[in-house]
Amino acid sequence: MVELQGIPVSPGVAIGPALVLDADGYQIPRSVVPADQADQEYARLQSAVDAVSARLETSRLETAAVAGEHTGDIFAAQLQMLHDPRLHAELRRRINTEYLTAAYSVNRVLHNYAAALRQLSNPFLADRAEDVLDIEKQLLRELGAVKRGPMSDLSEPVIVLSHVLTPSETANLDRRYVRGFATETGGAGGHTAIVAKGLELPAVVGIGPFLDSVGAGDQVIVDGDRGRVIINPDATTLKHYEQRIKQRNSLSARLAELRDLPAETADGVRIRLNANIEFPHETSAAIERGADGIGLYRTEFLYLSSEQEPSEEDHYQAYSQVVREMCGRPVVIRTLDLGADKMGHRPLVEQEHNPFLGLRSIRLSLRNLDLFRPQLRAVLRAAVHGDVRVMFPLITTIAELRQARMLLNLVAEDLKDEGIPYRGDIPVGMMVEVPAAVVMLENFVREVDFLSIGTNDLAQYTLAVDRSNEYVADLYQSSDPAVLRLIARCVEVADNAHTSLAVCGEMSSMPARALLLLGMGVRNLSVPPSSLPRVKKAIRSVSINQCQEIAARVMKLEAARDVDMYLLDRLGDLVPELVVT
Ligand code: PEP
Ligand code: MG
Repeated sequence: MVELQGIPVSPGVAIGPALVLDADGYQIPRSVVPADQADQEYARLQSAVDAVSARLETSRLETAAVAGEHTGDIFAAQLQMLHDPRLHAELRRRINTEYLTAAYSVNRVLHNYAAALRQLSNPFLADRAEDVLDIEKQLLRELGAVKRGPMSDLSEPVIVLSHVLTPSETANLDRRYVRGFATETGGAGGHTAIVAKGLELPAVVGIGPFLDSVGAGDQVIVDGDRGRVIINPDATTLKHYEQRIKQRNSLSARLAELRDLPAETADGVRIRLNANIEFPHETSAAIERGADGIGLYRTEFLYLSSEQEPSEEDHYQAYSQVVREMCGRPVVIRTLDLGADKMGHRPLVEQEHNPFLGLRSIRLSLRNLDLFRPQLRAVLRAAVHGDVRVMFPLITTIAELRQARMLLNLVAEDLKDEGIPYRGDIPVGMMVEVPAAVVMLENFVREVDFLSIGTNDLAQYTLAVDRSNEYVADLYQSSDPAVLRLIARCVEVADNAHTSLAVCGEMSSMPARALLLLGMGVRNLSVPPSSLPRVKKAIRSVSINQCQEIAARVMKLEAARDVDMYLLDRLGDLVPELVVT
């Protein structure tokens, strides 16, 4: 059993066989060949061994000629491993008696071999583990093992273990079979994490290098509540987690009963509790869990999940579906937030040194009007079907807001001239996710109908911490006092201007932090559909007075760690069911 610790990004527990997508991009599912083809499969392996052997011998001779016999011996050692009779006996056994494919057998046997070497106290032999894995890669190449693709050919449940998963790769995971995932890289605020929550897939990211110690088909537990990943659990651990799944299911069943009750505090203050979605199909989950509306529709995922660049009609169809399904409840459509970790079809920007500080989001839309206009047209057309509001992301300067608004007006005029049905007078809002916008908020509120704080980016830009970087993940905290002071300022400015203010970053989906936000005066939260029941439970369990006391105390604290410890403590007192132990 191997226990690993990473960053929990999407709650829940998943158990299943590993599908390993290593840093070199190989995807090796556990598959078998028909019994009568086992000999043929073994012959394929032998040809691969011969080819790799020939290549290693060439490398040995060439390296020895250039760098001396001693250096050439590195390859001699690899050749020796490649021809190790015990290794071949084990490979033969797997192929001829278990009928496993050559690629799968190579992956398993060589990983076990490398793991055994690593455990030796002899550091020289432990270093040889790298050579074993190098041989494995070479054999896999010869065997034509597939490089990672869209993972469209899955036929059984898997836990995806990968070096990295981009937001679009995550969005395209086959939900019928993928039970959860874990990655070596990534941070809590990355969009991969957000998609995982949207798909309700338990996930852990930022574990650091671990793929060398796991083979395809190994049993894996992903504990998305605590950020733990367990490879080949022992019987006691497995039983513990099976029990946890049962407890989670029974809590979910109890929370589901809150669905038709309002998100109202114990002393009767009504909180708007909306859902964040990335895809139209999530609307049903939002309704199912009693969302008051859609507070954030991340429309860029239409780009990230389709093979071709979406047309105006594609946008219109997607938005109309959401708006119609919401039956008159508000739908906040956020315009494209592409760039940085969310790249579309065409290369919209050259390689940037600092993509999160570069041409992303509204900046990118305003520079690519052929991308932006069709989207704005589709928003105004879909507005005919319900309560649509449009929101611009990453607004940093007044000029950007004005440009975006002007474009919206121009697009409305075009639609009018063309005689296409549309609604031009929809509410226009902006996301507050850059400190500059908070500083200048008095000026912005005069020009928008509503505000929504994106705490994911606000934390990133306030704390100068890349939200998807595992190395600085400990610094990335929306509960940092600096971030909290900016939020407090937003509440004050919005209240003074009588402008509606929501919080739609992940912060609002964490019950303890949600209570803090209520105490700070926020009355509108938007969270992933999967978090709706828990947040509603938290809201209904407290009075505004209690939340205000929490906020008053928190505002005296100096570090995110202290804030979180205190909040967890209070959550334990007020809503113990929601504390993950
Ligand atoms: C945010 O930044 O908090 C936000 C809601 O937007 P996104 O996570 O899509 O950047
Ligand atoms: Mg954002």
